Amino acid sequence: MSHLRAAAARGLRRSGRRAVSPAGKRRKGASPRRGAPAPAPAPPPARHLFSDPAEVVALRGNLLAWYDKCKRDLPWRTLAATEPDADRRAYAVWVSEIMLQQTQVSTVIDYYNRWMQKWPTLQALAQASLEEVNELWAGLGYYSRGKRLQEAARKVVSELAGQMPRTAEDLQKLLPGVGRYTAGAIASISYRQATGVVDGNVIRVLCRLRCIGADSSSPAVIDRLWDMANALVDRSRPGDFNQALMELGATVCVPRAPLCGECPVKQHCQARRRKLFGKATAVPDVEDCGVGDCPLCPPALEPWDSSLGVTNFPRKAAKKQPRVARTATCVLERRGCHGAQEYLIVQRPSSGLLAGLWEFPSLPLAQSLQEEKQRELLADHLRAWTGWPVVAEGLQLIGEVVHIFSHIHQTYVVYSLPLDGDVTLDPALSPSRWVTEEEFHASAVSTAMKKV
Ligand code: SF4
Repeated sequence: MSHLRAAAARGLRRSGRRAVSPAGKRRKGASPRRGAPAPAPAPPPARHLFSDPAEVVALRGNLLAWYDKCKRDLPWRTLAATEPDADRRAYAVWVSEIMLQQTQVSTVIDYYNRWMQKWPTLQALAQASLEEVNELWAGLGYYSRGKRLQEAARKVVSELAGQMPRTAEDLQKLLPGVGRYTAGAIASISYRQATGVVDGNVIRVLCRLRCIGADSSSPAVIDRLWDMANALVDRSRPGDFNQALMELGATVCVPRAPLCGECPVKQHCQARRRKLFGKATAVPDVEDCGVGDCPLCPPALEPWDSSLGVTNFPRKAAKKQPRVARTATCVLERRGCHGAQEYLIVQRPSSGLLAGLWEFPSLPLAQSLQEEKQRELLADHLRAWTGWPVVAEGLQLIGEVVHIFSHIHQTYVVYSLPLDGDVTLDPALSPSRWVTEEEFHASAVSTAMKKV
C-alpha cells in the first residue's frame, strides 16, 4: 500500500493534496469574458465511467461482501470500529493514514501500536515534545509527517477546543498536513461521510476497471478519478467501501501480477474484458474511444500491448530522476566514563530534509572529488567545529553507504576517528551529544544514519 499511497501523496493523492478546485481550474484556463457564461467542461467520455446505476449497485455489493470476508485485521481498523468517541476515532484513523503514506502496512503496525500506546489522544500528542515524536518516528522515514501531525494536534487542542473537524472539507481546510485524500479517509471511516478517496491503489483499480490509459498523474485523469470515486462510494458504508477499494488494490489488483481470477469485481473490469476478448463488449474497445482524442485513453503512440494484459493500466509519465548527492560523515568515538564506547551525534537544522534528527557529523561534498580532497575537507570541518587538532591522515575510511530518499540518491562516505580525550564543542553551533550504541538506536536518528 505504501508506494501507492506515496504516489498518491506526490502526484495523485498528491494530487489529492494539490487538488485542483474548480475555481483553480478556471484561473488556469482562459477566463470567460465578463458577463459571458463560462464554457462548460467537456463531459467525460461515457465509456470510461460507471453510467449504469445497476452496475454501481452490483459493484458496491460485490466489493463490500469480499471485504467483509477477506479484509486484513489491522489495529487502526479495530480502533475505528470499536472506539465510541468520534474525536478519538478520527485521531486513530488520522495517525494511521499519515503513517501509511510512503510506508508499508507491515512496517506501520508496530509504529502505530507504540504511538497509540504513548499518545492515545490528541491532547496527549499535543503535549509531547518534537524530540519524543522524532524518536518514535525514527526509521519510519519522511520525518516531516510526524512533526506535522503533532503541529496539527496542537492546533486542534488550542484553536478548535480539542474537537476534530467533522467533514472532509473542514479537515482539509483546517488541519495542516491533511490533504484531500487524508481528509476523505478520516471523514468516511470515522464519520461515515459519503465521500470517496483516491490513492495509488484506487488509481490502479479504477484505471483498470475503466481502461483509463492516459497519464494517471495528470490533473485531467486525477479529476476524473475523484469524480468516479465520489460517485461510486457506498452511501451507507463509505468508510468500508473506501477501505475495500484500497484493500483490493493492495492485495488483489496489485501492480505487476494482479489476481484477476480471484477478483470480486472482475465482471465489471474493462481491462480484463479487453484482455480476454480482445474487444470489450459493453464498452467499446479502447482504440475506438474518442477516435484518437479521448483524454482518458492511452496515447496513440503507445496503444494496447497484449503482452501486458490488464497491466496496460494505469500509465504514468516517466519519473524524474533523483538528484545525486554525496556526503562525508565521520563516526567520532571515545571511551566513555563507564568504559562503554560512545559516539558523537549532532542535531540537524529544524527545517529541511531530516529536520531536527540526529546524525554523525557530516559534510556535503561536491561530486567527483578525489578521496584525498574529501578527507581534507572533512578534517578541516571537524577541526573548526570541535577545536580538536584533527588531521586528514587520522581519518580512517570505512566505506560508502547508499541511501535512496524519495528524490535524492545519497551516498555517505563514512570515516571513523577514535579520540583519546574529551572534546569541548562550541555550544553556539549545532546541539550535540555523546551516546552509547544503545542510546544511538533509541535516539531520533534516520535509517540512513543507522546504516552508516
Ligand atoms: Fe484488477 Fe484484474 Fe480485478 Fe480488473 S479483474 S480490477 S485488473 S484484479
